[in-house]
Order: sequence, then C-alpha cells, then structure tokens
Amino acid sequence: MAQGIQLGEISIQQIVEQQGPFFPVGEFFPSLAPELLEENREWLEPAFVDPDSGNVILCIQSYVVRTRHHTILIDSCVGNHKPRPNRPMWHLMASDRYERNFEATGLRFEDIDYVMCTHLHTDHVGWNTRLDNGRWVPTFPNARYVFAERELDFWSDRTSQDPDACPWMVDSVLPVVEAGRAEIVKSDHMLGDDVQLIPSPGHTIDHYSVLVGRPQADALITGDMVHSPLQARYPELGMFSDYDSVLAGQTRRELFGRFCDSSTLMCTAHFPTPSTGHVRRWSEGFRIV
Ligand SMILES: [Zn+2]
Repeated sequence: MAQGIQLGEISIQQIVEQQGPFFPVGEFFPSLAPELLEENREWLEPAFVDPDSGNVILCIQSYVVRTRHHTILIDSCVGNHKPRPNRPMWHLMASDRYERNFEATGLRFEDIDYVMCTHLHTDHVGWNTRLDNGRWVPTFPNARYVFAERELDFWSDRTSQDPDACPWMVDSVLPVVEAGRAEIVKSDHMLGDDVQLIPSPGHTIDHYSVLVGRPQADALITGDMVHSPLQARYPELGMFSDYDSVLAGQTRRELFGRFCDSSTLMCTAHFPTPSTGHVRRWSEGFRIV
C-alpha cells in the first residue's frame, strides 16, 4: 500500500497522475524578470526547473484524505480520453497510471464519499468523469462533488457562451451537475469538525483550499493557491492562467503569513514530489521546507 501522511486521526495519501517539465518558465510566469530568474536559478534547478528544457517541473496529483467520518478526494487531475486540443500533453490521454496509483492507496472508486475540486481548471477535474458507452458518467459512484458556487457559476456562464473554450466543463463538470451529484457550497464551507474550506481566490474567481485535521495535527491542501516555490519566495508573482494575479498574490501572502512557523503541513498540488512541507520565512517571502 502507498505510504501516507498520518496527522492525528487523519491520513493523507497522494495519487500522482503525471510529473514533468510542462511549460517554459517565461511562459508560465509572464511577469518574471529574466534577472530574477538568474538570481534564483541555482536553487530552482534541477528540482523545480529542468535545466535542459528550461521548463517548470510540475506534478499533477490528487490528495486522498481519510477522516473519522469521510474519505475525500481533493482535485482529480487531467483524466483519460478527454479532448484537450490546446494542451497536447493532456489531449486524449490513455494512461493507466492514475488508476494504478489510486489502487495503491488500498481504496476503490466506490469508497470516495466526497470529491472536492479546489477550482474548475482542466487539470483538477478530469477524473470527475469517465467514458461509459460514449457517455461521461461520474467516476466515483457514491461521491458528492463539492464545487464553490461562484466558481461553478463563472465557468458555467463562460461555457454557455463558448463551449469549445471550456471542454473540461463539458466533459468533466457539467455531467456531474446533470447527474445530480454536485454539492454547491460557499468557499468557506465546513464538513464535520475536521474539514474546512478556506477561500483562496485569485488564481480563479472562487478558488478554495482545504484545511484538514485538528490544531497541531493539520494540513492545508492548497490546490493552485501556489504553483511553484518561486511564488512562495515572491508571493506577488502571478502565473499565466490567473483570473486576477494581484488578488492571487494577496491571498498567497495572507495564507503563508497565517501558517508561517506553524506545524500545519502544506500539501501543494503542483510542486514536484514530495510536494509537501512547512512554511518558513525567507527574506520578504516564504519557503516551504
Ligand atoms: Zn492546476
């Protein structure tokens, strides 16, 4: 069985779908000054930036959190057989890696009680659904899917105006809503006494992170509140697909400030494996160690 993180009565496991050098640094962080990149290159390479391609190394993964009451899958990666013509590395994927790594947690799809999507981007919703006789059906047959209300409204509006611009909504989010399996909540929603959504807007309009556990034995599943350790060191550094980079920067500074020097474990979506650590101060910013 895959190794996990135990925090009091809670356990956390990671399910990796992919890891690799996906985007050129300058494309990923459009406002990053070349001199600043040079200044930081020594610690960024080779773990976080691939020295050969110059691309940002990203992990695509889900977290499974088991509490006393629930088994929760947070973010559901890219998925199989999904048309993503604008992202060749994710277009019509047909890999058994996610399912194998899921199985290694000792769980079956039936065991998931809740799927939480921190936000509705293509690499966080894919395994929400799977192809069944030409139809997209919920992958987790017993799960409720937790979406933030304004996030779902925003992307639903955009999809009704231009469905081709949001293929992941068409195949991975709306079929869940149509199946009556969506639980639409405010982004500060609580689930029992040990799971709390924390609003972390900016990367998307109503992004949430998920705080799990009890004080002194807790973790923040960040989602895309942060993408790279470079955004911990420089919280105001935006990335290309941000809804509002200024707001995203304010959110990062506030949340890293709140959890700095605490025992709360940060579980990031996209930092390369092991992807987790504690927040400590680093000059004007932060580092995850
Ligand atoms: Zn992402």
